[in-house]
Amino acid sequence: MRESEERFEQLTQFNRTVIWECDAQGLYTYVSDSAYDILGYFPDEMVGHLHCWDLAPEATRERLKAQMLERFAAHKPFRDFISSITHQRGHLLWRSSGALPILASNQTLLGYRGSDRDITDQKRSEETIKTLAFYDTLTGLPNRKLLLDRLKQALAASKRSGHYGAILLLDLDHFKTLNDTMGHQQGDLLLIQVAEQIVGATREGDTVARLGGDEFVVVLNDLGAAQSDAALASETVGYKLIGALDRLYPLDALEYRSSASIGITLFQGDDASNDDLLKQADIAMYRAKESGRNTISFFDPQTEAALHQKALLKEELRHAIEHSELVVFYQAQVDDERRICGAEALVRWNHPTRGLVSPAAFIPIAEESGLIVPLGLWVLRSVAQQSVIWQSEARMQDLLISVNVSVRQFMQHDFVDQVRAVINETHVDPSLLKFEMTESILARNTEEIIVKMEQLKAMGIGFSLDDFGTGYSSLGYLKRLPIDQLKIDQSFVRDILSNPNDEIICKSTIALARSMGLDVIAEGVETLSQRDALRLLGCHNYQGFFFAPALCVRDFELMHQKEVA
Ligand code: C2E
Ligand code: CA
Ligand code: CA
Repeated sequence: MRESEERFEQLTQFNRTVIWECDAQGLYTYVSDSAYDILGYFPDEMVGHLHCWDLAPEATRERLKAQMLERFAAHKPFRDFISSITHQRGHLLWRSSGALPILASNQTLLGYRGSDRDITDQKRSEETIKTLAFYDTLTGLPNRKLLLDRLKQALAASKRSGHYGAILLLDLDHFKTLNDTMGHQQGDLLLIQVAEQIVGATREGDTVARLGGDEFVVVLNDLGAAQSDAALASETVGYKLIGALDRLYPLDALEYRSSASIGITLFQGDDASNDDLLKQADIAMYRAKESGRNTISFFDPQTEAALHQKALLKEELRHAIEHSELVVFYQAQVDDERRICGAEALVRWNHPTRGLVSPAAFIPIAEESGLIVPLGLWVLRSVAQQSVIWQSEARMQDLLISVNVSVRQFMQHDFVDQVRAVINETHVDPSLLKFEMTESILARNTEEIIVKMEQLKAMGIGFSLDDFGTGYSSLGYLKRLPIDQLKIDQSFVRDILSNPNDEIICKSTIALARSMGLDVIAEGVETLSQRDALRLLGCHNYQGFFFAPALCVRDFELMHQKEVA
């Protein structure tokens, strides 16, 4: 027995096997010395202290215990039973166990005798093989196979959400020349760096894959439900990639300048197949090459045209802000007696050829491009100047003016300073100003917003929560903001008479305002019966076409005069 045990020990040293015995409860009663080499535990530390499953990682321990005890109960042998265990120093090992039950003569279970083979290396090479099958060995990026899989998932997700996604196919410019003249090794060096650039220029959730050769693919998900938004977002990423890739790459003997051409195609749902989409992106990529390389191109010419249209409008808008093509209109806010108690400033664009353009057409572009910041500031200054003029006229002296402030504008780090500068410059009375902000402000970083609002509040400026009821509103948070007024969104006023849900929303907004000691105003009031319904629910301030549309200064003054007369 001793001899055979020694032989066992030698054997186990060699092939990394632990021999063991345990009792009917799984508690080790014998463990071979090899345990120390393999697991980092001396047999003494295991025998009488540990069960067969105790070394399993915590996450799998209970399951392993249950599995083993089930076999114990049935006196079942173990054969190639694979489980993971933790080495004394913390790293993970894989073992393959074989064991037979030890039975008393009356067939009761005394325990098990078995062996655990360390198969960690084998497991690792399996992982490596899996990796090889799905990842490109040169760059470590997903390969074509994994890309197709991810793409399929992306299409399914897009079908569920209705959101657009995009495929960007990147092809290096003149890569073949480099490969032919400098050799493949230099080509490989370039590809590795290109892969790093692409990964660096994309977000974590985007798939970046190497299709083969010098072709890479980026899949963008969740670009929103509007095609124009998706086009713009993917265009932005496209140009970011162009910028990141157009540079000098250090190779062995020289620095090599490279760039890429990118073809983009959008997808929504899973109507188009993987192949179709890659083909589309390919066609677009060739178009980018044709138009001089180092650029992007969309598969769908309409997408491209729409983008150009938008870009044009953006340039025109920039020009408009600088050349005072903008005008502020004022829409009256009234009480139950139709007395004007305030006005909302609404910007208009007096376009040289298109005429008066509605903000609905250009505010979104201003938001997207960041032009909303100078635009908003221009509106504020213009309103302040007007308020000062009205202050010198007895009839208009107390007119409170609401100014729309976009979240993006408000989030400027120096927004409070900008406002202060306008006040100092124009000498406007800040207590005649009210900022209208949409509920989406509530979804932002709380503390910063509270601090800013309180600073503005301290200057005397009021706050109204615009489009109330349409978005995110954490009432707990609402309480912490120094808000003066809730503005019931026009979509609820529109159908207040016919849609009980809308009526309930109006009613609860009014109740909420009252409970929090806030004013409430309803916008989009178009008929007397809407006004009456609101009044019945306890709302006594209104704005809407029933009273007056937004008017230019002159018309607004005339209306005001008539009312007072
Ligand atoms: P908003 O702040 O919700 O403004 C109310 C919009 O409803 C205005 O459209 C107004 O003309 C319209 N409206 C007023 N009464 C009625 C009515 O009885 N029925 C209907 N159907 N509509 C009514 P407008 O002037 O086209 O402005 C659209 C949006 O553009 C505004 O929505 C606001 O979000 C934005 N906007 C306008 N001016 C500015 C500005 O100076 N800065 C910022 N950031 N946004 C602005
Ligand atoms: Ca508003
Ligand atoms: Ca509104």
